Amino acid sequence: MTQYNHYIGGQSFEGESDRFGDVYDPARGVAKSQVRLATAGDVDAAVQVARTAFETWSETSVTARSRVMFAFRQLLVEHEDELAAIISSEHGKTLDDAKGEVVRGREVVEFACGIPQLLKGDYSDQVSGNIDSHTFRQPIGVVAGITPFNFPIMVPLWMHPVAIATGNTFILKPSERVPGASDLVARLYTEAGLPDGVFNVVHGDKVAVDAILEHPEIAGVSFVGSTPIARYVHENASRTGKRVQALGGAKNHAVVMPDADLDFAADHIVAAGYGSAGQRCMAISAVVAVGPVADALVDKIRERSLDLKVSVGTDPDAEMGPVVTAASRDRIVDYIGQGEADGATVVVDGRDLVVDEFEEGFFVGPSLLDGVTTDMSVYTDEIFGPVLTVLRVPTLDAALELINSNPYGNGTAVFTSSGEVARTFQRKVHVGMIGINVPVPVPMAFHSFGGWKDSLFGDHHIHGPEGVRFYTQAKVVTTRWPHVSEESLAQLNFPTAQ
Ligand code: NAD
Repeated sequence: MTQYNHYIGGQSFEGESDRFGDVYDPARGVAKSQVRLATAGDVDAAVQVARTAFETWSETSVTARSRVMFAFRQLLVEHEDELAAIISSEHGKTLDDAKGEVVRGREVVEFACGIPQLLKGDYSDQVSGNIDSHTFRQPIGVVAGITPFNFPIMVPLWMHPVAIATGNTFILKPSERVPGASDLVARLYTEAGLPDGVFNVVHGDKVAVDAILEHPEIAGVSFVGSTPIARYVHENASRTGKRVQALGGAKNHAVVMPDADLDFAADHIVAAGYGSAGQRCMAISAVVAVGPVADALVDKIRERSLDLKVSVGTDPDAEMGPVVTAASRDRIVDYIGQGEADGATVVVDGRDLVVDEFEEGFFVGPSLLDGVTTDMSVYTDEIFGPVLTVLRVPTLDAALELINSNPYGNGTAVFTSSGEVARTFQRKVHVGMIGINVPVPVPMAFHSFGGWKDSLFGDHHIHGPEGVRFYTQAKVVTTRWPHVSEESLAQLNFPTAQ
C-alpha cells in the first residue's frame, strides 16, 4: 500500500502523527493507500519552514518567479497522463474528465506566468507641486489552501500558482480522500526550480485545518469545500486576524425557456448533471422547465440518461465513474428515496446499478426526478451526486424568484434563443457565475471564480485579478525630492494639493 507523507521544505516529511486515513479506489471499493493525518505540531513545522522561505522568496525578482511558473507549467504538460491516472484512481472520474481538470488548472499557472504584468503598479506625476504618487503591491506572507476532494488538482491550482507568483509561500492541506496529485505537484515544483519551503503539503483532517486557522503566523487562508465548513473556516480564520476567502457548496439551476433548442439543452444538461458523477460544484442539479417545455424536455433527458455508459474511470468508453466513497453512494441513494417518498416521480433510477467486474465499486447510475418542489430535500440539499431534479414553473419571473430564494448562488444557466431573456436573466439573477446556453460557466483563469450568498464567504473571488489582490497588499507612496525654499516649509494644517 502506498503511504503518503507530508512534503515540507522540498522533501518528504513524516512528522509526529501516528494517525492515518485510508484512500480508496472507488471503482473497486477497496482501500489502496494511506495518508498521514497531521498534528498541530506538523502544521507548525510547515509554517516555520514556509516563514523562513518567505524571507528570500518575497525578495526574489518577479521575473525569476515568473520563470519558475513557466518551468512548472511545462512539467504539468509532460506529466498530464500521470496526474490524470492518479486523480481517476482516487476520485473515480474518467481519465478524460481528469485530464480536463489538469488542463483547466494549468491555465491558472499560465495566468501566473504573466505576473510581472499583473503586478505593475500605478504612477501619478505631479499630484501636487513637485510631488508624485505611486502604488505597488507586496505579498502577505505564509498562506494556506484547504481544498475539497472533487477536483484534486484543479482547485489547489486555483490558489498556489497565484499565491507563489505574487511572492508568498504556501501550505496546501488537500482533501485526505485524494492526496496523490498534490504529492506529485510538490515534486514537480521542486523540479521546476522552486526553492525549498515555498510550496509545502500537509495532509490531514479537521485537526490540521484547525491548526491552520489558529496559527498566528499564517496570514491568509483560501478554502474551497462544503458550505458548513466554508462558514466555519471564514469565521475562525477571521477571528484570528487572517485574510480569508472561503468558497462553499452549491445548488445550480438550469432554466429552459420555451424558445430554447430542446435537444441542445437536454444534451448539455445531461453532461452538466452527470459529468464527474455530479460531483462538481458547478454541476447542474435543478432543471427549471418554463411553461410548456417540461414533458418534452424530461423525455429527452431520460433517453440520454439511459444511454450513458457508467464504468471504471480507466475504461475508454466510460462517460461517468463511481462516486467517491461508500458513504457518499449511500447518502445519494437515500436522497432519491426521500424524493420518491415526498411525491417526486423517479423517471430514471440509478439506485441499483451494478457494474460488471466492479460489483464492490461505489456506483450510482444517472437518476432523474420529475415533479420536484422547493420543499423537498432533493431540492433543498446539495446532493453532490448524479441526480437531476426537474421543477416546473410558468414564467421566467417565477424561475428567477425560485433561484433567488435559494440560499446558494454559485452557478446557473439559461437556455434560450432570446437576447432579451438572456439579458434579463443575467441582470436579475442572484448568482455569481452565469451561463447563457453554457451549462457549466466556469470562468477562464484570467477572470475570477466565485459564487454569491452561501456559496462564498469573504470578499474576494478566486484566481484571476481577484486572486492577485487577495494574495497581495497595496502600498501608496507619496514622494517629494525637495528643493528647499521658503514656500516648501511644513505647515500644520491638513495637506491639500498646491
Ligand atoms: P468538505 O467541506 O467536506 O471538505 C473540504 C476540506 O475541508 C477538506 O480539506 C477537509 O479535510 C476539510 N474538512 C472537512 N470537514 C472538516 C471539519 N469538520 N472541520 C475542518 N475541516 C474540515 O468538502 P468535500 O466533500 O471534500 O467537497 C465537496 C464540497 O465542496 C461540495 O459541497 C462542493 O460544492 C464544494 N465545492 C465548492 C467549490 C466552489 O468553488 N464553490 C468547488 C469545489 C467543491
